[in-house]
Amino acid sequence: MKVTILGSGVIGTTCAYYLAKAGHQVTVLERQSAPAMETSFANAGEVSPGYSAPWAGPGVPLKAVKWMLMHHSPLVIWPMLDPAMWRWGASMLRNCTEARYALNKARMVRLAEYSRDCLRELRADTGIQYDERSQGTLQLFRTQQQLDGTGKDIEILQQYGVAYELLDRAGYIGVEPALAHVQEKFVGALRLPGDETGDCFKFTQRLAELAQRLGAKFRFGVNIQAIHSDGSRITGIMTDRKLQQADCYLVALGSHSPLLLRPVGIRIPVYPVKGYSITVPIEDASRAPESTIMDETHKVAVTRLGDRIRVGGTAELAGYSNTLREARRGTLNHVLTDLFPGAGDVAKGQFWSGLRPMTPDGTPVVGDSIYPNLYLATGHGTLGWTMAAGTGRVMADLVSGRAPEIDMDGLTAARYRQGAPRRHMA
Ligand SMILES: Cc1cc2nc3c(=O)[nH]c(=O)nc-3n(C[C@H](O)[C@H](O)[C@H](O)COP(=O)(O)OP(=O)(O)OC[C@H]3O[C@@H](n4cnc5c(N)ncnc54)[C@H](O)[C@@H]3O)c2cc1C
Repeated sequence: MKVTILGSGVIGTTCAYYLAKAGHQVTVLERQSAPAMETSFANAGEVSPGYSAPWAGPGVPLKAVKWMLMHHSPLVIWPMLDPAMWRWGASMLRNCTEARYALNKARMVRLAEYSRDCLRELRADTGIQYDERSQGTLQLFRTQQQLDGTGKDIEILQQYGVAYELLDRAGYIGVEPALAHVQEKFVGALRLPGDETGDCFKFTQRLAELAQRLGAKFRFGVNIQAIHSDGSRITGIMTDRKLQQADCYLVALGSHSPLLLRPVGIRIPVYPVKGYSITVPIEDASRAPESTIMDETHKVAVTRLGDRIRVGGTAELAGYSNTLREARRGTLNHVLTDLFPGAGDVAKGQFWSGLRPMTPDGTPVVGDSIYPNLYLATGHGTLGWTMAAGTGRVMADLVSGRAPEIDMDGLTAARYRQGAPRRHMA
């Protein structure tokens, strides 16, 4: 079958690989000059099914107010007159109940665990290398209150069979020896040994090469302007060059997906939530992290990627703006020097921002749509790298007419349709 994929971030590229492997004729349309040049470029590098959870949870509205008042705040909301942002925010608030949190988390963990397994298989099949490590994630707590608060998370980890270890000082220094230099700052840690790390950009670039070897064609520098439909099927993709036609189409445009889907009657609540990262060359490896550390206070992740450290985090609601704000860099510099003093010189760090394609319920939109020849793979929010391989596998199965290996209930856009006129929702 001829399949056109819109977007060559980690999601579009992973779909391209699996679809090409399944024998389809794949063409990928991408406005940038290479894969993974937007949100998939410099994320925090965690492949973290253990940490898969929606941001919307019980107690979050109150915490959000406190976060906004902190000096190195993990959350910034710019007072904008963007109705889409306020609608998205209201919907996120509605997801902050115990029941919604548990439902959303279960959906996310289902895809994330499957995805991590697909990634391992992909690595074994292809030998792809991307500064990967399989040494888990360590969530660090500065206060006893934070440590005590893990009870609920642990219950959920147990419920989904996710391996975890609760560590005291000696325990976390055992897995991250460089933390010995700052041990007085932390009371304990939660380790998720099944998590992995790796450079999403390198992975995507190399997977695109593998997809090309399987026959996929990547068309870079192509600006997609509109999706055309005759009311019952998608008939083509209008670009700044020509109308591109195929048997079926897959939208993987990250935060930009809803803008192109709306004119064909599909409304999905995906909104950009900006995050920042710095990438710092390691100067003293004995003082650097081994894997990923989550600083629970600042909600910042510090990850070892080969001979570099990636520090990523913060959530900023600022529309589609990619402006780099120095205050955010200050927070990332602060966390790195606070946790790993002497590991690297933050002045040499490369500063970056990206727009997480977030849904209010945290779960991505993966699967079919109201059009029989249109598929959606977007809204992966904070976990697009974690969920990419599983998303690609699921999409290849669906397009090939096979049942995916995981239950798709609650992952597709159908969950937003309830009670809404069909023509307005996917
Ligand atoms: C600071 C930060 C830290 C993060 N850390 C992690 C992490 O540790 N682990 C994790 O799992 N996830 C993480 N994420 C999330 C992850 O990076 C995203 O979920 C993922 O990159 C989304 O991939 P995507 O392919 O959907 O979007 P993108 O990478 O944005 O790809 C969409 C593509 O569509 C193209 N496009 C858009 N519009 C058009 C158009 N009109 N015409 C042509 N092309 C178009 C874009 O150029 C882009 O290449 C983080 C994100 C941020 C910002």
